[in-house]
Amino acid sequence: MGVTVRFCGAARTVTGSCYLFETPAGRVLIDCGLFQGPKTLKELNYGAFPFVPSDLAAVLLTHAHIDHSGLIPKLTRAGFRGPVFATRGTIDLCSYMLPDAGSIQESEVAALNRRNAARGRPLVTPIYTQRDAITSLDAFRPIDYAAWVEIMPSMRARYWNAGHLLGSASIEIEFVGEGLSGEPLRVLVSGDLGPDAKLLESDPKAPTGLDYVICESTYGDEDRPPVTRESRRQHLAAEVRDAYAAGGALLIPAFAVERTQELIVDLVDLMERGDIPAAPIFLDSPLAIRATEVFRQHADSLEADLDVERLLRSPHLHCTASVEESKAIAMFTGFHIIVAASGMCDAGRIRHHLKRWLWHSKATVLLVGFQAQGTLGRFIADGAKAVRIQGEEIKVVARIRRLDEYSGHADGPELARWIAARRPIQRGVFLIHGEAPALAGLGERIAERTVPAAKVFAPLLDDIYELTTAAPTPLDVSRRRRLAPEAVTNLDWHNDMSKLILEINDAIETAADDRGRGVIIRRLRRALKGDS
Ligand SMILES: [Zn+2]
Repeated sequence: MGVTVRFCGAARTVTGSCYLFETPAGRVLIDCGLFQGPKTLKELNYGAFPFVPSDLAAVLLTHAHIDHSGLIPKLTRAGFRGPVFATRGTIDLCSYMLPDAGSIQESEVAALNRRNAARGRPLVTPIYTQRDAITSLDAFRPIDYAAWVEIMPSMRARYWNAGHLLGSASIEIEFVGEGLSGEPLRVLVSGDLGPDAKLLESDPKAPTGLDYVICESTYGDEDRPPVTRESRRQHLAAEVRDAYAAGGALLIPAFAVERTQELIVDLVDLMERGDIPAAPIFLDSPLAIRATEVFRQHADSLEADLDVERLLRSPHLHCTASVEESKAIAMFTGFHIIVAASGMCDAGRIRHHLKRWLWHSKATVLLVGFQAQGTLGRFIADGAKAVRIQGEEIKVVARIRRLDEYSGHADGPELARWIAARRPIQRGVFLIHGEAPALAGLGERIAERTVPAAKVFAPLLDDIYELTTAAPTPLDVSRRRRLAPEAVTNLDWHNDMSKLILEINDAIETAADDRGRGVIIRRLRRALKGDS
């Protein structure tokens, strides 16, 4: 058999990016990301990899985001001894982000084990520790954009700037002699693609003339109005002025790396120009504070006409690294801005601030990034009246606002244009890294217009395709799947359950009187017994 690809993650979902290429000469992994969102997916992080880690010749990493890099320490712990190829920007970011991910897992598991011990349940161990993460960094090997690198005999790769994040790359791969008439088989993996006109990054670049393109689809169904740096900044200014008028805190849950730095650069610049009221901006995320340092170091490679270095040192900006400093923010009552991770509100200090402010009508929550299914951020974005944070029910009374223009991802038309610019594409386009509507949306944009519809594929988790046949051939994987296909696409029962509990509480509370409450409870009991 020639070359095959197995979709070990981010297939019909947006997290856990991981693709296994198998050739007669050896096996190589592109990305090794953490699954996030619904519990069913997150449990995959604890299970065995669907391959033998010590068999891998190398890992090619597209960028530092945890849903692309977050399981590398687990890979090392499970016996992987090869190199991890990445750009210098990616390596610098991973050197903070992976140890941070390790310590988050240690503290989350410690908290879970306290609850498990109290309920007599068995204890669990973290996926990996901070120490494992630090050890895994030894495997990283820097590579430059645009230069071919021999990965193993008969396979070479070249990185292209994907314009999504500091150091982010699309990866072009050639398998020598595996093409249709003896020439190389050429594959391009998009990684995550940045939008046009992104602050701090150039537009994505990539080669043409490929056998296969494997392309992300995160916002494949979205068509954003054209964004310029100035229009985005003015929209942010309007949101900040409204939040100021409301009189409470402005909470911005933001990805620690890049989104945070873009926001701070714009917020400080707007304050300096007098477009928004001057107020303290708390950067309340140890990881974001360290990442900001990396951005200061790489400032000259970022934005030519903006003094990023100076803006990131503004006296308006207060970095609260320690727990004590972070807790002290709670003493502020009037207007102030808090930028904290995580961007989807499923971990990190933002949860403390949400707990403090969500029930407050003067507060504003400004969502600036993608909110994956099953995350707290998605519930808030979808208009939940109450949410559960650390086991407590919190009413949502704060103003909830969205600003999508800071997206680090290309939208549907930009993705379709990026794919079209790669032509000729001989054998197929695989759409990955998207929820069902996004995959369908991007599929519609390119089918027939860019490539024949029969050449567009949206693989399921753990699908394997042979690439050396005239058209990609799916192999029988029915006994090798880790999850039933429907388990991946359905929001899992844990989420349905917590939604139901919130709805019941809401119905009981808003009932006219105790008699009304009694009626609801009796009906629910009857439903549980199964009679209608
Ligand atoms: Zn990313």
